Amino acid sequence: MSVLVYLESWEGKFKKNTWEAATYAAKTASMLGTEAIGLCIGKLDEDASEAGNYGLSKVLKLEGDAFNQFDANVYGAAIAEVAAAQSANTVIVSATFNGKALAPALSIQADAALLSNVVALPENASPFSVKRGVFSGKGFNILTSDAAKRIVLFVPNSIAPEATGGSASVEGTSAGQGSISPVAVKEVDRVKGKIPLPEAERVISGGRGLKGPENWGMIEELAEVLDAGTACSKPVSDMDWRPHSEHVGQTGIAIKPNLYVAVGISGAIQHLAGVSASKTIVVINKDPEAPFFKAADYGVVGDAFEVVPKLTEEIKKFKAAN
Ligand SMILES: Cc1cc2nc3c(=O)[nH]c(=O)nc-3n(C[C@H](O)[C@H](O)[C@H](O)COP(=O)(O)OP(=O)(O)OC[C@H]3O[C@@H](n4cnc5c(N)ncnc54)[C@H](O)[C@@H]3O)c2cc1C
Repeated sequence: MSVLVYLESWEGKFKKNTWEAATYAAKTASMLGTEAIGLCIGKLDEDASEAGNYGLSKVLKLEGDAFNQFDANVYGAAIAEVAAAQSANTVIVSATFNGKALAPALSIQADAALLSNVVALPENASPFSVKRGVFSGKGFNILTSDAAKRIVLFVPNSIAPEATGGSASVEGTSAGQGSISPVAVKEVDRVKGKIPLPEAERVISGGRGLKGPENWGMIEELAEVLDAGTACSKPVSDMDWRPHSEHVGQTGIAIKPNLYVAVGISGAIQHLAGVSASKTIVVINKDPEAPFFKAADYGVVGDAFEVVPKLTEEIKKFKAAN
């Protein structure tokens, strides 16, 4: 028995949540009294032995033409094969964009239970139980599974990566090599120069209170000084003020950054559903009765057009002085 963790990479580089996933796997393995093994798929420019620093004993590398583009079915079949070869009854996957597509496919291919939306380390080894978010993050339940095999799909930023100072051996694997995609990807068009929302540690978000797309310069400037991603409420993207890829909430992307700054957003329940798990919420709204203030850690009652430029200026000064 072992715990296998998918060490996700993109364009040869590990993703932000990779070491979080490794830590999750190492701690789960220690609870189950076994070892944690990492699996990298596709071309990698980084040193996979770094995973040892997060508690993994071994890292397997699976390379080949079939893995040049992410394909949930191909990756799922490969991970299922590697898991079987390593006698892994628990597979850890981070719920990134790709992870969310991968885990259900893997669950079918490995004939394993899928424990999704997991927000903390397992509560118990036997029976295996995990805490998961329900009702769009408004509540939690403890899910207990007695399945012989399971996939744990855990929400990014749920735990912090923990360096252990250990080292991992790295070796190639031939298990999983047989997977071939029936789909040929001709071209990938990727937005460049922006922080992908699900990976952003800080997010500055604007709502209808900003009046129009021409006023988003100040949101982008604040995002730039804070090295943050930009987001918006649903009506804003519905009106084409901002792209739909920035819409957060119940019907948009659910995010969990360390800092979420909501500017001119009322805080409707459907918006909160996608952002309320953020670690620190700052609300800037001219209406002191705006519902968002109830969910805020810090609130500024004021006109966004005055507050945001001043805030950006102060942060610039602070950065210059420190
Ligand atoms: C089924 C369903 C799903 C939905 N899914 C989502 C979703 O995923 N995400 C989402 O966001 N919404 C969603 N909605 C819509 C949601 O109910 C709200 O209508 C929406 O979130 C409101 O957007 P808003 O806060 O930008 O606009 P408004 O509600 O119009 O609020 C604007 C806010 O800006 C403030 N303001 C105005 N001027 C200024 C100023 N100068 N300075 C500072 N503050 C100012 C106002 O006081 C107000 O609080 C959904 C609705 C339904 C029915």
